[in-house]
Amino acid sequence: MSQPTTPQEALLSWFAENQRDLPWRRHYKPYQIWISEIMLQQTQMDRVTIFFERWMQEFPDLKTLAAASEQQILKCWEGLGYYSRARNILKTAQILVSEYQGEIPDKRKLLLTLPGIGPYTAGAIASIAYNRDVPVVDANIERILARFLNIDLIPGSPEAKKLFWTRAEELLPAGQARNFNQALMELGALICRPKNPDCSACPLAPHCLALHHDLILERPVPKTGKKITPIDMATGILIHQGLLYIQQRLADDVWGSLWEFPGGRMKKNELPEETVVREFLEETEFEVQVESKITTTIHHYTRYRVTLHCFFVKLNQTDSDPVLHAAQDFRWVPFETLQEYAFPAGHRKLISFLKKRKEV
Ligand code: SF4
Repeated sequence: MSQPTTPQEALLSWFAENQRDLPWRRHYKPYQIWISEIMLQQTQMDRVTIFFERWMQEFPDLKTLAAASEQQILKCWEGLGYYSRARNILKTAQILVSEYQGEIPDKRKLLLTLPGIGPYTAGAIASIAYNRDVPVVDANIERILARFLNIDLIPGSPEAKKLFWTRAEELLPAGQARNFNQALMELGALICRPKNPDCSACPLAPHCLALHHDLILERPVPKTGKKITPIDMATGILIHQGLLYIQQRLADDVWGSLWEFPGGRMKKNELPEETVVREFLEETEFEVQVESKITTTIHHYTRYRVTLHCFFVKLNQTDSDPVLHAAQDFRWVPFETLQEYAFPAGHRKLISFLKKRKEV
């Protein structure tokens, strides 16, 4: 199979492999898409799937729904909150039966006239249920677009809103709206999360401008001026006779007793490669040299953003016993057993990156 060349192709092929199995994705029935989208407006996915199944048992189609009483609707909605959503569903169902022959329209313009359906939901129904070339934009998609395209407007302003919708429309590949819009939503939920996006697993990473310019934390532009301190670190994976060197941090250290690959904070004017060599010497008395760059991961903490430059290194010496200066224990382990050890988040990201790339 040929490799994806555009961001759209990369995203679609990622979605084909990684999409979650959700009940309304099995048949793409307009009625089911509509109900799921309304439920998802203020509620977590896990809860929605439970309520959705229950709802479909109670009201399997539009006609049954339109004939129900408000009390029946509210009872079935009980626990989901924001009950105006349920009331609007009933009103809309009655309108659809009396004025649209029990069909849900496929045009955004008509959908927007129905109670409880705003621009996002109209776009979602038209694109997901009918595969019409209509974009969708919600807070998740704004976040992805702000990062991917490095948009420096504050979300919520009229200017930003207009721009996000325009960009979402420009990016939409003709005839693929159903999967493309869902892929964006899925990416926002699973990978490009508000905090700690997993860029090493992201299909958009090669094209992502915020990643490229190291601006992820500033995109979307934060509404309050919270001060974040950037920290640059470097780490090395030392492989010797097919085994990886890991060491266990001191108990009273930050991330006490977790396992790690040696490394540390870069000094002023130091290159990450130089940091790795210096840190190995200081922490283990190993003399190493850098073989190749693996990746750079970024991890966000409340007040810090840690950029971790990762390398493969090799030993310049024959003795493979370290002298520990910053750790309480060490191991030489096969790659497959790394999951048995607890690592800090940045190193876990590195391990999953290597696993995906099958580089070790
Ligand atoms: S590379 Fe990172 S920031 Fe950019 S879209 Fe992907 S997850 Fe989001």
